[in-house]
Amino acid sequence: MSALSAPHFHNEQAAYDYVEARIWPNGPVCPKCGGVERIGLMGGKSTRIGLYKCYQCRSPFTVKIGTIFEASHVPMRLWLQAIYLIASSKKGFSSNQLHRTLGVTLKTAWFMSHRIREAMRSGDLSPFGAEGGVVEADETYIGREPNTPVTRGGSHKMKVVSLIDRDTGRARSFVVDNVNVKTIGQIVAGNMVREARLVTDEGSWYRRALEHVDAHGTVNHGKGEYVSRFDPAIHTNTVEGFFSIFKRGMKGVYQHCGKRHLHRYMAEFDFRYTERQANGVDDAARADLLLAGIVGKRLTYETAGA
Ligand SMILES: [Zn+2]
Repeated sequence: MSALSAPHFHNEQAAYDYVEARIWPNGPVCPKCGGVERIGLMGGKSTRIGLYKCYQCRSPFTVKIGTIFEASHVPMRLWLQAIYLIASSKKGFSSNQLHRTLGVTLKTAWFMSHRIREAMRSGDLSPFGAEGGVVEADETYIGREPNTPVTRGGSHKMKVVSLIDRDTGRARSFVVDNVNVKTIGQIVAGNMVREARLVTDEGSWYRRALEHVDAHGTVNHGKGEYVSRFDPAIHTNTVEGFFSIFKRGMKGVYQHCGKRHLHRYMAEFDFRYTERQANGVDDAARADLLLAGIVGKRLTYETAGA
């Protein structure tokens, strides 16, 4: 049976039921006054699906209020299809593909993609490397920095630094203007516990990492060393594997990504990597996790940079 044959992908009422069950596990909550007691479902032929009224503050509302779906006219069942497709595509799903698959306009598809990406932005701020765990860090370069002449050294490219917590399998990425001791220091200090064991290559920007963490192991890629001779746990193969998925996705699916959107694409790749099959999360569960992230992530045309 097709993964997309479930009723909530085709029937609007089933789609609302599906979303409501996840956003309101204990029944409808008024977004205006927070009331849960005196709420009624609006009936009648001309009434929109999923329309409730709070008799405490007299406000009508739907489950879309306060989520990425707010003010969108796209049917809920298409939102759920889009979420499933994006959540289950390892290398991403382009707006163009979404436009063709769902039959919505390209502009709508583009906006849906950005909102869904926003929902993938993790609220998880807990630091990496708990209990002396190993955290790999590495940087990669992609596309083109705005208003910067092309140079041989690659400084015209956009810069991304990623951390992988090897114990929990989480990825967390940062778009930075410069890769240097200062930005690396901020990332390490802000996202790792003191007892963490950081592993990097020989990049000079990591040289003061020990100001922030207790241990720092390096491999010297320039000298052809990929796993430390002294400790087989010292390598950056995990974060390089993450970058290779990211690069293939950006090259194949998201060719023209501007810098102002890059952090959203990184959030997407972080999310799918963290919630991957190898971590025990299947496609349907990943789509549900994504759906759980829709709350409080309203994105207007202004903030999307449309
Ligand atoms: Zn109310």
